[in-house]
Amino acid sequence: IYAIGEIAEFKGFLYGITAAAEQQAEIVARYLCGDISKPYEGSLLMNILKIHGTELCSLGIVEYPDDPAYEEIVFIDKAKRYYKKCIVHNDRLIGAILIGDKSEFLEYRDLIANKMELSEKRLQLLRSGKTPEPVIGKLVCSCNNVGEGNLTNKIKEGCKDLVQLCQLTGAGTGCGSCRPEVKAILEKEIKKPVPKEEEQKLAAVA
Ligand SMILES: Cc1cc2nc3c(=O)[nH]c(=O)nc-3n(C[C@H](O)[C@H](O)[C@H](O)COP(=O)(O)OP(=O)(O)OC[C@H]3O[C@@H](n4cnc5c(N)ncnc54)[C@H](O)[C@@H]3O)c2cc1C
Repeated sequence: IYAIGEIAEFKGFLYGITAAAEQQAEIVARYLCGDISKPYEGSLLMNILKIHGTELCSLGIVEYPDDPAYEEIVFIDKAKRYYKKCIVHNDRLIGAILIGDKSEFLEYRDLIANKMELSEKRLQLLRSGKTPEPVIGKLVCSCNNVGEGNLTNKIKEGCKDLVQLCQLTGAGTGCGSCRPEVKAILEKEIKKPVPKEEEQKLAAVA
């Protein structure tokens, strides 16, 4: 008997997010096909509040133990209603909260998931300096604020691949619920169906 998704507890923890359900599903599928080399080791917690006009997300560990090995880096701009908290442990980002601008969500997610050492990039990575791309047209991905126009613009620039389109725009790389819509937009623009393998590849890399 295998348990995945909303119903599965791992090391006393219930994730309750689609990304964890997908990662667990991939591991069970591999296991059923005979690949026992990759056991489940837990998922990165990430949550994005989806309320129009409110930017709020959290990633990884946001409450940390009373231990000097953990560092908290906080930026607040009350006038711009911006708040960012990063938790660093052993020169690695392990958690973050972003309020007012979540454009660094994907970058931080990869830094945490890949346990990348920040080293000399620390200042550059943790201090905001990016201007988020405005949403163009109907909102498609509310996790990463990507509109239909942002997608069609990228397709017109030459991006005809579903995985690449999602990686370039950020669409479909949060909770994943907009992936069918992103696929439909791409198919409409390129006037041909997206191969099934591309969808599977996207679920594995996003
Ligand atoms: C309001 C809400 C908002 C959420 N927002 C997010 C979000 O923004 N980001 C995110 O990552 N996660 C979000 N989640 C969590 C996410 O939806 C779940 O983690 C994910 O759907 C779990 O997938 P699952 O396949 O395990 O379960 P489910 O998606 O719940 O699928 C279980 C399926 O089993 C069916 N079922 C139940 N009992 C039976 C039965 N006896 N026989 C046959 N079928 C049955 C149900 O009808 C359902 O279709 C949200 C959840 C809720 C409730």
